[in-house]
Amino acid sequence: MTANKRPQVVIVGAGFGGLWAARTIDTSRADITIIDHNNYHTFLPLLYQVSAAELEPEEIAYPIRAILRKVRHSDFILADVKGIDFSKRLVETDGVKIPYDYLILATGSTSFYFGVPGAEENAFSLKTLEEGTILRNHILCNFEQAVHEADSGRKERLLTFVVVGGGATGVEFAGALAELIYGPLERDYPTLDFGQVRVILLEAADNLLMHMPEKLRRYSLERLSGMGVDIRLGAVVGKIEKSAVHLKDGSIIETDTVVWTAGVRGDPLAERLGLPVSRNGRVKVMPTLQVPEHRNVYVVGDLAYFEEDGEQLPLVAPVAIQQGTVAANNIVRQIGGREPEPFEYKDRGTMVTIGRNAGVARLPGRSYTGLFAWILWLAVHLLNLIGFRNRILVMINWSQDYFLFERAVRFIFPSGAYSKIKALQCASKPETGERKEKKEFG
Ligand SMILES: Cc1cc2nc3c(=O)[nH]c(=O)nc-3n(C[C@H](O)[C@H](O)[C@H](O)COP(=O)(O)OP(=O)(O)OC[C@H]3O[C@@H](n4cnc5c(N)ncnc54)[C@H](O)[C@@H]3O)c2cc1C
Repeated sequence: MTANKRPQVVIVGAGFGGLWAARTIDTSRADITIIDHNNYHTFLPLLYQVSAAELEPEEIAYPIRAILRKVRHSDFILADVKGIDFSKRLVETDGVKIPYDYLILATGSTSFYFGVPGAEENAFSLKTLEEGTILRNHILCNFEQAVHEADSGRKERLLTFVVVGGGATGVEFAGALAELIYGPLERDYPTLDFGQVRVILLEAADNLLMHMPEKLRRYSLERLSGMGVDIRLGAVVGKIEKSAVHLKDGSIIETDTVVWTAGVRGDPLAERLGLPVSRNGRVKVMPTLQVPEHRNVYVVGDLAYFEEDGEQLPLVAPVAIQQGTVAANNIVRQIGGREPEPFEYKDRGTMVTIGRNAGVARLPGRSYTGLFAWILWLAVHLLNLIGFRNRILVMINWSQDYFLFERAVRFIFPSGAYSKIKALQCASKPETGERKEKKEFG
């Protein structure tokens, strides 16, 4: 950093951690550049509602440049970060190379499959807006195909939906899917026998929502079962094939739809950079969120491995937000010649929604089930969603769902009817990344 140059702070990832860091940094002291391979921020806590045809993808996304308009001395670069040259202080992307004085890594997490054969290839993941939309299209396509399917075995596979993982995402998605199927879809497809349709939730442990108090777990289990979800506890997945899930106890579930919500790991970028990572690929940071070998580099959010009272912090938005804020303030302290301060997580509780009028909430010192927890969940998510328009649209969709038992977003879109991507939309799990691109574009 030269004497006449303002410090350059580069933030990789415009999720909760990165965005909150950008909003916090005192830009009278530094210039900031935020890099993301999407030009929008995704509000991941509502992603499962995109898959369950409840919300449009756009309603849970917001343009990064629009957010940065309010942040002086800030810039955005749309690029995929491929590497970092720590000695030259350069971020290497698929396009430009970006110099930095201080760096915040906030690239989040990806699904982790615990080495289960076939899981990555055949199961749907729920981590990005594309994945959420592809899953919605797939579910709706299954019903369209089932209507005309003469082969009873194939029909059964089309109408069996398996969710792996009884954590918050698995519970929320299974509940929303059951409400979609046994509500609007049952009315849409009068010729189908909905007694044949199954939503199965597999959990390896002996209960759902293991991070919640016992009372809330019991409530969730009873409520979800009451909604028609077939919950199988102690069910360990051994293998996933294109049209079947094999459990370790030898049983087989024939299905064309497996949704994997069972495991999460830090974004593989950290390992590629040679940073010290935990077993689940999260970067082991100092109490100040700095990387031990590079004191001008901070890691926040899902990508950071941070222990408190001997336990790693959960991969949730409040952790990312609080860490992004502390990392930003620590950089300003460093610029001013002061020591960075340690991070301390303020746990304000967790909430999970199960379905209509049903939620669970663990708040400091108290826990709630039922209508109150559900309303609390709705309010917190609506308030935290970025964008006034998004809030209004989400509220309209939720109201329509609540009062009219209707889901507004039952589109198979992009339809792919006559396009090259037909196979991606109406078949089993599409391939991703390079292989997909080659297939689509020749
Ligand atoms: C389906 C689902 C439901 C959830 N529900 C809840 C909930 O109810 N409550 C809760 O608190 N938390 C929930 N979470 C977890 C929460 O969303 C995460 O903990 C939070 O998003 C982590 O923030 P982050 O900033 O670390 O990463 P993210 O928000 O994931 O942001 C990472 C950003 O980095 C970008 N990026 C990644 N790699 C690169 C690269 N190589 N180059 C450029 N950009 C890159 C991505 O595009 C993204 O914008 C949920 C997560 C999911 C997936």
